[in-house]
Amino acid sequence: MTDPRPLPAVRGCSTAPVLKERGQREVFCGLTGIIWLHRKMQDAFFLVVGSRTCAHLLQSAAGVMIFAEPRFGTAILEEKDLAGLADAHEELDREVARLLARRPDIRQLFLVGSCPSEVIKLDLARAAERLTRLHAPHVRVLNYSGSGIETTFTEGEDACLAAMVPVLPEREAAAPRDLLLVGALPDVVEDQALGLLEALGVGPVRVLPARRADAAPAVGPGTLYALTQPFLGETAAALDRRGARRIAAPFPFGEEGTTLWLAAVAEAFGVDRATFDRVTEAPRARARKAVAAAATTLAGRTLFLFPDSQLEIPLARFLARECGMRPIEVAAPYIHRGLVGPDLDLLPEGPVIAEGQDVDRQLDRARAARPDLTVCGLGLANPLEAEGLTTKWAIELVFTPVHFYEQAGDLAALFARPLRRRARLCFGARP
Ligand code: SF4
Repeated sequence: MTDPRPLPAVRGCSTAPVLKERGQREVFCGLTGIIWLHRKMQDAFFLVVGSRTCAHLLQSAAGVMIFAEPRFGTAILEEKDLAGLADAHEELDREVARLLARRPDIRQLFLVGSCPSEVIKLDLARAAERLTRLHAPHVRVLNYSGSGIETTFTEGEDACLAAMVPVLPEREAAAPRDLLLVGALPDVVEDQALGLLEALGVGPVRVLPARRADAAPAVGPGTLYALTQPFLGETAAALDRRGARRIAAPFPFGEEGTTLWLAAVAEAFGVDRATFDRVTEAPRARARKAVAAAATTLAGRTLFLFPDSQLEIPLARFLARECGMRPIEVAAPYIHRGLVGPDLDLLPEGPVIAEGQDVDRQLDRARAARPDLTVCGLGLANPLEAEGLTTKWAIELVFTPVHFYEQAGDLAALFARPLRRRARLCFGARP
């Protein structure tokens, strides 16, 4: 039998000093999450209460086709709203009534706050309560903020899921212990995870967010939950308040991360080692082989992660331990030690660990280090490419299936591709 427990990093980064920066940041806002959330929740509608800028961001990021009926939209605040000359609540009620009359398929409506709605202090929580009373039981209306004030783009999903937790049904006290999988994964990846858990005999398993409102999971004391994304701190806190208990583990990126994540869940549910080995052996071997193919390009290369997706620490752990990369700086918008602690433990010591951003100072550090690969937001990638650095857009990591065994090779390949492209452009360089 193989031992799923990892070889610890010689010295991990859990006690490394953290460089805290609070300067100018270059990140997308939380509205971005609507693009993957609306695909996941098939009877939900996301109504952004914002400006034309917000509408343009969503339209261009989501690439909406004109013949498709999107399940998101923007209620645009006009100048008279911003100047307090109109009752924005009355207008919002009218917009929502029109929308729900036209779209009877909608069962969950999210009012999504933006910078403009926050600046004028539009109380969307009050609006959501009022609209729920008007449209219950067919539609539940919730609210959360996707504004770009003090957020990074993955916080949109966290805020959305955290808003759902207080209204999830209460779990029956006598019900058998169950597992809640938390995080919006692409359906194909979620199905793979559910298949593995079922083969291990872990269950019943429920998912947050559920694909449809009527499948919303019940929670309460007795619920064990496992996060699939490291940016769900508020959601985790909301679940804790409902009495659920989190299973701590590294995040399921790569063969090692997936194995450790599954091992933690298996241990919590009393799965025996022989079963664990039987279920995971073949997919582990496939994942190792697929990662090894990309690792030939990545091994020995230096890596600099700007703070963007909040996946930085688990990804650095994967790229260092499974792909042989050498992280120079690993920066995350926020470091929630309670969630990423197991990944920090495994990340080999050496890189600067940074939290927050002061973009000019960080650019200076990246230029001085000249890393082989820089992972950053779209706004920084093109200028850095023009300076001869090779970059990877962090936002691709949330739009691409990257979790669990079958995606481990694709995850490594995402980072190998820009290095190969650069090598082809600079003839003769190492592919
Ligand atoms: S929420 Fe703020 S940052 Fe996001 S698109 Fe609207 S105005 Fe811009």
